Amino acid sequence: MKYVIVTGGVLSGLGKGITASSIGVLLKSAGLHLTSIKIDPYLNCDAGTMSPFEHGEVFVLDDGGEVDLDLGNYERFLDVALARENNITTGKVYANVIEKERRGDYLGKTVQVVPHITNEIQDWIERVANVCSDGSGKTPDVCVIELGGTVGDIESAPFVEALRQFQFRVGKENVCFVHVSLVPVMGPVGEQKTKPTQHTVKELRGLGIIPDILVCRSEKPLEMETRAKLAAFCHVAEDAVVSAHDVSNLYQIPISLYEQSVLGKVSQQLGFTVPDSLPKLDEWKVMADKIDSLEEEVHIAMVGKYTGLSDSYLSVIKALQHSAFVVNRKLVIDWIESTDLDPTEDSENHDEAWRIVKAADGILVPGGFGVRGIEGKIAAAHYARTNNVPYLGVCLGLQIATIEFCRNVLGLEGANSTEFDENTPNPAVVFMPEISKTQMGGTMRLGTKPTPFLVDDCKIRRLYGDAAHVDERHRHRYEVNPELIEQIEAAGLVYVGKDETGQRCEIMELEGHPYYVGTQYHPEFKSRPNRPSPPFLGLLMAAVGQKI
Ligand code: GLN
Repeated sequence: MKYVIVTGGVLSGLGKGITASSIGVLLKSAGLHLTSIKIDPYLNCDAGTMSPFEHGEVFVLDDGGEVDLDLGNYERFLDVALARENNITTGKVYANVIEKERRGDYLGKTVQVVPHITNEIQDWIERVANVCSDGSGKTPDVCVIELGGTVGDIESAPFVEALRQFQFRVGKENVCFVHVSLVPVMGPVGEQKTKPTQHTVKELRGLGIIPDILVCRSEKPLEMETRAKLAAFCHVAEDAVVSAHDVSNLYQIPISLYEQSVLGKVSQQLGFTVPDSLPKLDEWKVMADKIDSLEEEVHIAMVGKYTGLSDSYLSVIKALQHSAFVVNRKLVIDWIESTDLDPTEDSENHDEAWRIVKAADGILVPGGFGVRGIEGKIAAAHYARTNNVPYLGVCLGLQIATIEFCRNVLGLEGANSTEFDENTPNPAVVFMPEISKTQMGGTMRLGTKPTPFLVDDCKIRRLYGDAAHVDERHRHRYEVNPELIEQIEAAGLVYVGKDETGQRCEIMELEGHPYYVGTQYHPEFKSRPNRPSPPFLGLLMAAVGQKI
């Protein structure tokens, strides 16, 4: 087993995850089997209870793990399916160690950060690295590990120490350390400054880790002089100083790294031979270049509540992009703050928000929690339904469409979800009986569940290639009120997919509309660059006027 370990310095948000997954793309294109681990040095046991405001989207895995959004990047770039164990947090590590201590496993010893926490981390990494995640059934050749946060933080110290020890546990020849840093530009001539990188490498080396490769985020490609200086001061070979400068789109990053011989460098360090031709990487380049060449736009109005923070909807954005590539359009997402659409709110952006919604080619209502912005979303769904505008509702978006339909087609006054109005006279969406009301973490209906199709022919089933059932990932507490299903369906909003009991509504489609679809699950989590998620592809196809 070989390990690529990616750390970061200077500041967060440098794109360690993208660097790590891009290196993964290169190794994969060399024919290797990969898996990956993301380490998050916070005390939360998982990302499930964290606000999207603070931490971006909560990514959901097949096994129901609620994890950091970087796991989504790995799944998409490496085309793997990870498990909750692939996300290590301080909270999870401590919980395990404390459980072992309570069981008496440490035989009376004083339980300490070193060696007990650091050993637990190393055991965890070794255990998970050996689990196949690419569906091949083979033990992975390489595990790409990303350490979140920046080196030198109090939080990450036990992990850095564990990784330092790890190189001796598994042998230095099996580990490649990659450090991601920042090279800012200052002054009138735009000089590339190396000092922040010098400091972070010094810090890392002080902790016992010598980077094999230095990846420098910069606006422009690193100049020869900058490279030479970094090599000299950071104890890294000159050809191991890599420029991660701005590129036209994300998918160009693996290509840029390849052109700087990163694959050769990592392979040399880990003892792999790189094949002469890399057809998978050639395919990847074709895709990256195609994205650059798209000019004709398609506008999707995204009606949400964290619209200032695109990270909160990262997988949804990716699924839209993957779909836009396929219909050969450049995606433009028009972010709409749903409260601005609410007829009862006194928003100064009201008219402008509606103008944008009405000009869009399609409308998307993504997942969400809490009452804020609900009426605006209902108004958007109403507009899409009554004006034949393509609509996709994800999770909450399906519930919104259901509420709108109950109010305006069935005439059920004040219809609502009990999440937003406990005393609604017409509960259209209700709390699922098996869900806990007191425990917040990890208690939703989570992870992959099968959804059989109940209708022979409908748009969404065609999009899924006429599949008999779909396996998609869930994250919700509420469901369409089973008592209303018959009435709703009789009026034309059909739940074409239900769970295996035939009770729980999973996929809705409106009869006689170009594309009015909702899913109780989150199809965005399984979208891939070359395999867009079918409900999203349907939205884009309808938005550009293609028949489904
Ligand atoms: N708040 C809704 C529920 O819990 C929708 C959840 C979601 O969109 N992920 O059912």
